[in-house]
Amino acid sequence: MIRVAKFGGSSVASAGQFKKVKNIVELDDTRKFVVVSAVGKANKDDNKVTDLLYLCYAHTKYNINFDNIFKMIENKFIAIAEELDLKFDIKSELAKLKSEISKGIDEEYLVSRGEYLTGLLMAEYLGYHFVDAKDLIFYNYQGDVDFEKTKETFDELITKYDRLLIPGFYGSRPNGEIKIMTRGGGDVSGAIVANIAEANVYENWTDVSGILMADPRIIEKPKEIEVISYAELRELSYMGASVLHEEAIFPVRDKDIPIQIRNTNDPKAEGTIISDNRHLGLKQIVTGIAGKKDFSIITIKKRHMANEVGLIGKALKIFEEFNVSIEHIPSGIDSFSVVVETANVRPFIHELVAKIKNVIGADEVNVSHEISLIATVGERMKNTKGLSGRLFKALGEAGVNIALISQTNDEINIIVGVHNDDYEKTIKAIYNEFK
Ligand code: ASP
Repeated sequence: MIRVAKFGGSSVASAGQFKKVKNIVELDDTRKFVVVSAVGKANKDDNKVTDLLYLCYAHTKYNINFDNIFKMIENKFIAIAEELDLKFDIKSELAKLKSEISKGIDEEYLVSRGEYLTGLLMAEYLGYHFVDAKDLIFYNYQGDVDFEKTKETFDELITKYDRLLIPGFYGSRPNGEIKIMTRGGGDVSGAIVANIAEANVYENWTDVSGILMADPRIIEKPKEIEVISYAELRELSYMGASVLHEEAIFPVRDKDIPIQIRNTNDPKAEGTIISDNRHLGLKQIVTGIAGKKDFSIITIKKRHMANEVGLIGKALKIFEEFNVSIEHIPSGIDSFSVVVETANVRPFIHELVAKIKNVIGADEVNVSHEISLIATVGERMKNTKGLSGRLFKALGEAGVNIALISQTNDEINIIVGVHNDDYEKTIKAIYNEFK
């Protein structure tokens, strides 16, 4: 049994959090490979080291003194090292970094130092062998992870060391330069390590006890999701539930490695398992509900449209010209609608509408704004009769007017569009029906 344990920024935000990590790692001998994010927020008003490093870089770019911001970074690392009595000379490491910044530094290299230094401190504290991610996570010229080279290196490392600590969020390009991932990329590093280590579980330790069935700002104490499939997670994340970095799914999904979302502050909680084959026996029909506000529906009407070939294609081409990504295209007989994010069309909506009218000779083009989309997601929905009846009845009883309905062919997702004012009400009605 091999577990890869990735600890996010809040899990390593202070000496106290480091202690929790150590307890967790020592609790189970199979947690052989540990990945860490950079020191994160210790409380709501605190700052993430990664954000501070970006800020340092921005200061140097405009020639503004960055001493104060750098001091905040120093304080965090030094406090952890001193409180835990670590031997690693963090002070001279930080001084070296500061002088490198003053001389002009590569942005990606600088930002990656958050996880690098956190990793060095954690490696000493846990007694794990530190592996610089630049010597393990290799990218190819296309910017993709070179799994073959990465795995070869890993396999060689584990002939020498039993337990490894790897900083997340970065790797190296073929020329040896540091390449960072997109924000939250520590999740991806963990998934890559789980893949090459052929782990049985990829544990993603964070500050919540799993993924919630709905947004806790809307639903008081929503249920935690026990098991969620990759496809369900993808639908929910796309609709605004922030859980895990999107790209963290592929490396583990390929090898059928379940991801377990767990809480560093409550290690007894089982959290949520993300896997495609653990669903059997679960009774819950709806896995989760998520939504996003501020969409626009552009409805295009033309008499006898149904007999004209290629009309929708022409309209969509116009959206493409304006570089607008389309969410949904519900259609009727002589009309169809295009649903887009309002922010993506706002600057040129009048030109867009005029062009559609012109090019396809539409009789009418109407635009309604302030639409929210709410997704009700669940694999087991596809075999459940009467489910949409229940959903719409609940919305009717709650007095919600539905502007749009869309269901994907695989039937794991029903999306309703409602006015922004009804957003919370809709989520509450669906949650209460299916919780
Ligand atoms: N430290 C990086 C960030 O804040 C990566 C991570 O935490 O996963 O985005």
